Amino acid sequence: MCIACDVKLGRRAFLRLGAGLAAAASLGGVAAAAGGPATTLTADQALAKLKEGNQRYVSSPQACAADLAKARAGVAQHQAPWATILSCADSRVPPELIFGGQNVGELFVARNAGNMADTATLGTIEYGAAALGVPLIVVLGHERCGAVAAACEVVEKGARFPGSIGPMLEPIIPAALAAKGKPGDFVDNAIRENAIRTASRIVSASAIVADLVAKGKVKVVAGRYDLDDGRVEFFG
Ligand SMILES: [Zn+2]
Repeated sequence: MCIACDVKLGRRAFLRLGAGLAAAASLGGVAAAAGGPATTLTADQALAKLKEGNQRYVSSPQACAADLAKARAGVAQHQAPWATILSCADSRVPPELIFGGQNVGELFVARNAGNMADTATLGTIEYGAAALGVPLIVVLGHERCGAVAAACEVVEKGARFPGSIGPMLEPIIPAALAAKGKPGDFVDNAIRENAIRTASRIVSASAIVADLVAKGKVKVVAGRYDLDDGRVEFFG
């Protein structure tokens, strides 16, 4: 594969994506870019399935017993994920595992330190909702998040962080400021605030998601993963 091929493939893929999003916007059909039908689950059914999966992970944690080869073959030509998870890059928060061993092709996942909705992440979420027909978007914060703790240090102690880490933390600062001085643990309050604000921002910053939410086709929820007991608490 040469660079020229990469460029051509990238352009074709981009055009396919554009066509899919255009179709989704103009036809209200969200499966155009997915190559097949979207999931039939509603947002509420998807949320219930995540809760069941997390309960399974908490009550009987074990390595994934799914038939991965079979699942891979089943989705090789087409994907119909039923939940988008925006979670932290933290190695202890793998969405497929903490929601009970969800298989290949189930979850559409975006991850970054602090589970923030930057431009790349917003575009990813929009593609999942509009082109793939994913009915549920979850912003998942987690206990003892290092990125949020660092933002709290900026607010509380004027800390500075090198390289791109400092600028990366800036979107978390408003959540840390809002949490400062409130009863309870400062960092944990900021983690909750950050997840809730990010969920809200996904709707306010994305006309695509806002439109799907208004039509009742998509729900956006926030939650917090507990590193100690494995439970996911959903807010609202
Ligand atoms: Zn984190």
